[in-house]
Amino acid sequence: MPNVLTLETPVEKIPFVGPNYAKKLTKLDIKTVEDLLWHFPFRYDNFQLTSPISSVQPGETVTIKGTVMTASNLFTKTGKKLTQVKFADDSGMIDAIWFNQFYLKNTFAPNTVWQLSGKVNWFSHKVTFISPEYERIGEEKSRNIHTGRLVPVYPETSGVSSKWLRRKIAFLLQNGFSHIPEYLPSEMLQRNNLAEISTAVTSIHFPDSTYEVEKAKKRLAFDELFFLQLAAQVRKKRWQTERKGIPLQVDQEKILLFINRLPFTLTAAQDKVTREILQDLEKPVVANRLLEGDVGSGKTVVAGIAMYVAFLNGFQSALMAPTEILAQQHFQTISTLLSPFGVKVKLITASTKYTDDDFDVLIGTHSLIYEKVKFKKLALVVIDEQHRFGVQQRAKLWEKGVNPHLLTMTATPIPRTIALTLYADLDLSYLDEMPKGRQRIKTWVVPNEKRELANNWLKKQIKENADQCFIICPLIEESETLTTIKAVKAEFKKLKSIFAEFKLGLLHGRLKSKEKQEVIEKFRQHKLDILVSTPVVEVGIDIPNATIMFIEGADRFGLAQLHQLRGRVGRGEKQSYCFLFSESDKPQALERLKTMEKYFVGSELAEVDLKLRGPGELFGTKQHGFGNLKIASFSDTNLIEKTKKEAVALVQKDLNLSTYPLLKEHLEIFLSLERNS
Ligand code: ADP
Ligand code: MG
Repeated sequence: MPNVLTLETPVEKIPFVGPNYAKKLTKLDIKTVEDLLWHFPFRYDNFQLTSPISSVQPGETVTIKGTVMTASNLFTKTGKKLTQVKFADDSGMIDAIWFNQFYLKNTFAPNTVWQLSGKVNWFSHKVTFISPEYERIGEEKSRNIHTGRLVPVYPETSGVSSKWLRRKIAFLLQNGFSHIPEYLPSEMLQRNNLAEISTAVTSIHFPDSTYEVEKAKKRLAFDELFFLQLAAQVRKKRWQTERKGIPLQVDQEKILLFINRLPFTLTAAQDKVTREILQDLEKPVVANRLLEGDVGSGKTVVAGIAMYVAFLNGFQSALMAPTEILAQQHFQTISTLLSPFGVKVKLITASTKYTDDDFDVLIGTHSLIYEKVKFKKLALVVIDEQHRFGVQQRAKLWEKGVNPHLLTMTATPIPRTIALTLYADLDLSYLDEMPKGRQRIKTWVVPNEKRELANNWLKKQIKENADQCFIICPLIEESETLTTIKAVKAEFKKLKSIFAEFKLGLLHGRLKSKEKQEVIEKFRQHKLDILVSTPVVEVGIDIPNATIMFIEGADRFGLAQLHQLRGRVGRGEKQSYCFLFSESDKPQALERLKTMEKYFVGSELAEVDLKLRGPGELFGTKQHGFGNLKIASFSDTNLIEKTKKEAVALVQKDLNLSTYPLLKEHLEIFLSLERNS
């Protein structure tokens, strides 16, 4: 029976797992045998110290071996259920107690031999094991897994304990899976001083020493980053060899004329990235570039120039944005920029229907990838806030043309280490400079007792300076449900009475698109003083006269996300302010928020967030396409560089990995998982 298990076998098929446990395991993202083997402990209980019973000292964590003398169920004075078992060895006797587990009385049958591991302390004037781990000795030949060693402790979920996981994983390892065929080339293992995969997997679960744990982690961390890198290199090479692009001509004179007519001068950074992008467009290879620039650094106009070049060559462009609000705004901006030059710009969203392919630039939301949307001659695809889209969505738009150039943009401050790993297949451009005249946004974390002061200050600012303010409600779910909307509406009512003398508007994800647009327009035209909003304004909205940002429940956001929200103000020349409110009284939470007072560059904040909360939390909510690292860390620059070097060398030598069939197979699985994200 165990012979039929492979790494891909669903967990349900493992003996004594079945559909019930299989369902629970999905909460831990465990679906297959491989997932279970790759479910790693986050710590180990050190039960390596063994002792004869007579030498056991109160206060120590220790392991003994003993025979059951008696077992009884009792009630304590306070009425708690207590099982008390007496164990003996040649040197003496000791009690062990467990609470609320009366069934244990039958487990510990007289004269059976057990190993106990755990903490020993005084109980009713006697030295006693209190709720120790226990394991039968002498029955099976297999080694102990719960006691007397480094015992793995796993991420658990309801109904699935570490003890249960330990048993199942030990079962797998005892039935063939301690011999997983090695898929990395042996020279690579040697060069990097890495353990074999089967050794690593076995000893991450059941190590004999902490040294073994370290060796195992080193190998498994290497694999995590190496496969990310290898996938990126393979994609890049395939892209370069298979994609013949459309070389566009760049008419320098016309471009200069266009740039001169802009209402502002491009920053040096904008100038530089524009050059990089236009050079891409001239090549017969399909461009695949990521433009990374902090909020407000001016990415839109750069994309506009590239689309103008496509137009001058008689081609169409598409610009996709993640929200309707943003698509509308881009439509306005791009129309203003390009229409005077004869460019026909159209918009398509859920509420603005597609009519025909008579346009030069089509701007829209996900609606762009609908089947009925057709392009005549698509040469350039621009994707704004690219991390908001899945791999498939991006691919679908791209496939609407014949090898169009691809420009993706993001304001998500990705630490460079992460960018180098995840986007190793892209060319990167950085907008690392803000337009002139921008002032630093004064930022404060406001404790609860100063709440009213802040409100009064805001009233004064609105009255005396005609300032406009965003108030962001603490809603961090990705999709806004009816219940959360109810909470926002209640909050809105409260705010309306606090700020009764002013005009307030409410914006949230459940409004109809027309309503959203109306509220934003009213705010833009200064018919509203305060815009109360859920974090839907997070991406892209550009209203220069709004200079004050209140963020409620700020501790519930990631720093990078707070930075994006804060970036909605400080877009003009007026001094801007950001107030962070928090109900939390945890010192770490406040400390984390305080970094917002000191840092104003997105990538620096992202680095801090990475250190404090780990990459999973980087953007507040789970993002598409981000590698799920279990052991390796995106802050391990050393390993990132090492794995990149190996991946580059390997792909250069053997793009199709034909000399490494097992590695190829592994990579294909990795790539297919990625494609489905
Ligand atoms: P983001 O990079 O966040 O998408 P936008 O493209 O929305 O930024 O630009 C932010 C604001 O800055 C817009 O109002 C835009 O008109 C303005 N802007 C862009 N480039 C410049 C510049 N070089 N000088 C002054 N203002 C600029
Ligand atoms: Mg933008």
